[in-house]
Amino acid sequence: MSSADCLFCKFVSRDVEPDVVAETEHSLAFRDINPQAPTHVLVVPKRHVANAGELAGASADELADVVLLARSVAESEGLGGDYRLVLNTGAGAGQSVFHAHLHLLGGRAMQWPPG
Ligand code: IMP
Repeated sequence: MSSADCLFCKFVSRDVEPDVVAETEHSLAFRDINPQAPTHVLVVPKRHVANAGELAGASADELADVVLLARSVAESEGLGGDYRLVLNTGAGAGQSVFHAHLHLLGGRAMQWPPG
């Protein structure tokens, strides 16, 4: 299922072409347009779901595919096992695009807690 108004669904269908890094049958990885680290890649399930909780509830396999693709991209980006994965869930937590996406951030020192 896709949503006509969803930017990331347009990336999946290639109606709008993102800066693709990698993909699998079920997931797409592309560079964030406003990178917050030297490597900032978004990994999305190709199927439209609003957030990570919905994705996990619907299909643990698809959630696993997203995380495994993020790990593969981290390796191909040469992050050496040091990277951060972020799932902003809900507007109050900073989610601005309501198609589930995993942020892969790396290539610099990370602070904790995040803002
Ligand atoms: P959120 O705030 O966790 O929902 O993350 C949404 C992310 O999508 C942000 O990091 C944005 O910079 C990113 N983003 C928004 N529009 C585009 C785009 O057109 N291409 C790539 N990344 C985008």
